[in-house]
Amino acid sequence: MESPQRSDADNAIEQGYDLVSIGKGFLVEPTWATKAINGELCAEFADIAQQEELMIPTPLWEIMDYMIVDSAAEALKHQRIKELQNIDIKFEPGEYTAYGYGHNGKLPVTVTLSEDKILEVLVDSSKESDGIANPAFERIPQQILDGQTLNIDVISGATVSSQAVIDGVSNAVDLAGGNSEALRCKARDAVEWSTETIEETVDVVVVGGGGAGLSAALTALDSGKSVVVLEKFPAIGGNTVRTGGWVNAAEPKWQKDFPAIAGEADYLKGIADTPESDIAQEYLSDFRALKDQLANYFLDIESGKNYLFDSMELHLIQTYLGGKRTNLDGASIHGQYDLVHTLTSRAMESIDWLTEKGIDFNRDMVDIAVGALWRRAHKPTRPKGVEFVEKLQKHIIAQGGRIITDTRAEDLIVEDSKVVGIKATHSNGTKYKLNTNNGVVLASGGFGANTKMLQKYNNYWNEIADDIKTTNSPALIGDGIEIGEKAGADVVGMEYIQLMPIGDPKSGALLTGLIVPPENFVFVNKQGKRFVDECESRDVLSNSFFDNGGVIYMIADEEIRKTAANTTYETIEREIEEGIIIKADSIEELAEKIDVSPAELSETIRRYNSYVDEGRDPEFHKGALGLKVEKAPFYATPRKPSVHHTMGGLKIDTKACVLDKNGLPIPGLYAAGEITGGIHAGNRLGGNALIDIFTYGRIAGDSVSE
Ligand SMILES: Cc1cc2nc3c(=O)[nH]c(=O)nc-3n(C[C@H](O)[C@H](O)[C@H](O)COP(=O)(O)OP(=O)(O)OC[C@H]3O[C@@H](n4cnc5c(N)ncnc54)[C@H](O)[C@@H]3O)c2cc1C
Repeated sequence: MESPQRSDADNAIEQGYDLVSIGKGFLVEPTWATKAINGELCAEFADIAQQEELMIPTPLWEIMDYMIVDSAAEALKHQRIKELQNIDIKFEPGEYTAYGYGHNGKLPVTVTLSEDKILEVLVDSSKESDGIANPAFERIPQQILDGQTLNIDVISGATVSSQAVIDGVSNAVDLAGGNSEALRCKARDAVEWSTETIEETVDVVVVGGGGAGLSAALTALDSGKSVVVLEKFPAIGGNTVRTGGWVNAAEPKWQKDFPAIAGEADYLKGIADTPESDIAQEYLSDFRALKDQLANYFLDIESGKNYLFDSMELHLIQTYLGGKRTNLDGASIHGQYDLVHTLTSRAMESIDWLTEKGIDFNRDMVDIAVGALWRRAHKPTRPKGVEFVEKLQKHIIAQGGRIITDTRAEDLIVEDSKVVGIKATHSNGTKYKLNTNNGVVLASGGFGANTKMLQKYNNYWNEIADDIKTTNSPALIGDGIEIGEKAGADVVGMEYIQLMPIGDPKSGALLTGLIVPPENFVFVNKQGKRFVDECESRDVLSNSFFDNGGVIYMIADEEIRKTAANTTYETIEREIEEGIIIKADSIEELAEKIDVSPAELSETIRRYNSYVDEGRDPEFHKGALGLKVEKAPFYATPRKPSVHHTMGGLKIDTKACVLDKNGLPIPGLYAAGEITGGIHAGNRLGGNALIDIFTYGRIAGDSVSE
């Protein structure tokens, strides 16, 4: 038999190469050439004990670790699997409840067993808040029942929940005297690969089942169009389902009912004092209108009134100033006026639309996300983004929209420079050719989970490290941007990447630990000292974290703990056990636990509390001063910046039409959400992404239906 290496080499020589190096073969088989000439196969892996024999220096040996195996251990493992596969699976018949660990702690799984069969698997997912149509709770039990095995792959985007179900069944099996290890090794049926091609015609195809895509789809359905949503993951939701749920919209009538917080008036004075030379020409008239509004507000305050100010103009100017940034080459960027104006002036329309679609906003408090700069967030009563995704999905299905999951959009179909459809592939191999009467809306999100792409475009941070973590779903790798560019779309602002300062140092996740409103944040460094205005924007905070050693601590007391919006009592307790949150009975003890000077931390907290009392922070000018840190027990949550948002993307106009390199709309092509650029410019404000996806999602749905 001829070795594949040899035939490859022969091929290459025939193509005109003088020398062919077979890299991997050379490392593990120094005599690869002779072997190839003799038609023998070269080994693909080296044994762990072969380093000396192969004369491979340690640095190279370490690099090639992915092709090193411990043959003896592998042989033992293989033998053990064989033994386990031959074991007769037997159970003590009955119903058993056991647990795996999901996102929100223990996930109860009840398993009914006969003597030799798993009859039923029931998952109680009521405590899993991100369980919207979570495929892990349906598909994994079904696969276990169908294959009578625990040798099941976890589902992309639902890995924690999948593992929790598998572990729960495994523990139940052990309770029933079964052998879960054997069940985990039991062979399963091969996946059937499909070679089918499905071709059909609909009015509108939406790519991506996040908030932007669902809003576009529902708006098009409301206009009477037939709609297909393509979602590449088994579950819809993307980053939208992971969110904190903060949606910015200025609604002064509502906000007026809430008192101002110490520090906010000073912050507004700072905005009013911004020199006009700092404001771009096109924003000047809104800035002047804002200054007039603020002058009236300051008079109100002087006359003893106390309320939270807001206006569309403040939202617009903050989005502009918050996004105005300079890249590493000194070039500056700010949000495109017409896009920002459309966003902020139509924000309340989106809140009303969402309310009409059944989203239940908590009207008892005005919230603020980290880096949002102002309290104007509308937040659903349910945690995270489940409320949006679940409710919009229900409407879409009820109105005859189709959501095809596990199906990745790949290429637009373009005829005579017009987009007339899209090609996609299901994870089982089925090809889709979807022709569109009206057009395609790209809403496949950003590229925060694609480190290579981030590194390729980054021109804002000194470095995007190879091992940087992200808050994003692994689905967010920039597919749609690539699809659009292949069809001639222009991009804007790609070099601006947002880091979330308060990421979990281990996982990158945003919503672990005690995520409280920024007015209650107290950040300290390894010296136990504060170092920044905790209400600053995300890039300023991330840079200050890097300047202070990367990992910093958020300090909280018992009262501040109660304001954590992201979590439950049970989750906090689990995170304390797991060391994600550090708890102590005194500030001194907390300092010792996080290895900072007790005297220094106590002094920092004493000083911070005095600023809260005075309503002014002379050290860092904190934008809003909430609760003091005074009531035991005390908490510290370590945090480190992780990739959160990609501000750049496809260039669009105010009708969400995708623009080509000449600034002209590409007929039949629309985009909305994090896939687009031009609005948030160099830095997105907290709470501004959700309002963007719902507002431009609706606009895209309207435009594609015209
Ligand atoms: C942890 C976290 C918390 C956040 N909290 C907030 C907040 O409170 N407020 C706020 O304003 N913003 C927040 N954001 C930002 C905000 O959530 C996102 O910007 C927003 O949800 C993006 O919505 P989208 O619809 O554009 O994309 P997504 O919601 O990410 O959806 C994109 C979808 O497209 C799918 N997809 C990708 N490629 C393809 C393909 N080729 N074919 C088919 N489907 C594809 C993906 O699987 C995904 O389901 C948060 C982000 C994160 C990660």
